Amino acid sequence: MIRRCLLFRRPIRVPPRCQQRNLLTLAIETSCDDTCVALLEKHKDNSATLHSNSRITSDNREYGGVYPIAAHEGHQKTLAILIQEALKSLPAAESSENALFIEDEGGRKPRQRPDFITVTRGPGMRSNLLTGMDTAKGLAVAWQVPLLGVNHMQAHALTPRLVSALQKTSEDPKGRRNDPEFPFLTLLVSGGHSMLVHSKSLDRHEILANTTDLAVGDLLDKSAREILPPSILDSATDVGYARILESFVFPFENVSKNYFPPSSFMRPRKGSEWGYDWIINPPYSDPGPDGAIAHSKLFTFSGIGSSAKRIVKYRPDMDDAERRVLAREVMALAFEHLASRVLFALKLPTLQNVNTLVVSGGVASNKFLKTILRTILDAKGYNHVRLLFPPSYLCTDNAAMIAWTGIEMYEAGWRTSLEAMVVKKWAIDPNAEDGGILGIDGWERLAN
Ligand code: AMP
Ligand code: ZN
Repeated sequence: MIRRCLLFRRPIRVPPRCQQRNLLTLAIETSCDDTCVALLEKHKDNSATLHSNSRITSDNREYGGVYPIAAHEGHQKTLAILIQEALKSLPAAESSENALFIEDEGGRKPRQRPDFITVTRGPGMRSNLLTGMDTAKGLAVAWQVPLLGVNHMQAHALTPRLVSALQKTSEDPKGRRNDPEFPFLTLLVSGGHSMLVHSKSLDRHEILANTTDLAVGDLLDKSAREILPPSILDSATDVGYARILESFVFPFENVSKNYFPPSSFMRPRKGSEWGYDWIINPPYSDPGPDGAIAHSKLFTFSGIGSSAKRIVKYRPDMDDAERRVLAREVMALAFEHLASRVLFALKLPTLQNVNTLVVSGGVASNKFLKTILRTILDAKGYNHVRLLFPPSYLCTDNAAMIAWTGIEMYEAGWRTSLEAMVVKKWAIDPNAEDGGILGIDGWERLAN
């Protein structure tokens, strides 16, 4: 069957009713310091099987944070090896037509060829994205299958839909529908982003609040480097210092104990409550002449970071007990700031039909964030708002979420041209300057 590509008016050959059958994709993610490969299959009943999901994070410890050149070298060293390993998990081929013959311990076996290749096209570090994109194009050409170049932030937002597909059984009463259905609210909290998003459809994610300075993950990583005792910092196995900070503060996982929501988001945090002589002001503790509403679409985290740095600088002999209190308060202030913007958004008339908040991105694996959001929503009368946190392995960067986004975009009829370039900055909001997910060139749409 020949169909027309709407954007380029070029004919594309596609299998008939492709969404009526199982779809298998191989996905690659290389936007930052994680090299990730996944094999995901979506079945006709809307359930999904993750055949393989691997990640290798490059070692950036000597730089104290992600160093683009080291991360790029990491992708170059490991991507091909991860793909080689993943191919051994391809499902067995039902016929020899289009089968790939894969060598493993048991010899050469016919395996099912992926229906298309998905890759992160942006946003991210240019040269790092290129490693993934060039490999993906090579595989698509060699196997004669389509290419899907997807948006990393869209993938974080769609992750809970992947989670529900992975959990679905064939008897599931919800049948073919993806959960959560659109619209929903998404809090994207990662090392590079802090965004509150109104996810209206697959490709329309309106930004309701964005950061003016640091991303919340960046704030937590930087603060952790200041606050963690040197012995713990020295034994870190990677630069995910925020994760180490969480286990330093909550070594026994009793995260929800003793958290009480603040009477006001503008109230300064006083160390004197625990016998210490420092104060940290929350973001926008002075709302200025326009009042708090003027800042309701903004996140700012640099003030919390500077306070933490200053406090530690003047107390080099700070003991571990005080470090724990300081770290807990830094996290609490950052997470309450996120919660305050969620509350602003939930009052918007356009969001009255929204009852799900997805929290995604690396910081979403923090259990204290979960506690704070739930406690504050309940305290403010939003008990009916469901919080969805993907499991930790799907919160941090991974190729499974890229694969899922590829499958959803593929089913919606989208393909990516082999001429498509990677994009360093790529919005998910259609109102953004670049037009959002579908605003950039390189998309090809199949006519119905
Ligand atoms: P991403 O950019 O989505 O891969 O997320 C990475 C960011 O998430 C980094 O800033 C990590 O330090 C941060 N992160 C990972 N685990 C945690 C955690 N448990 N608590 C807070 N931040 C975390
Ligand atoms: Zn990410």
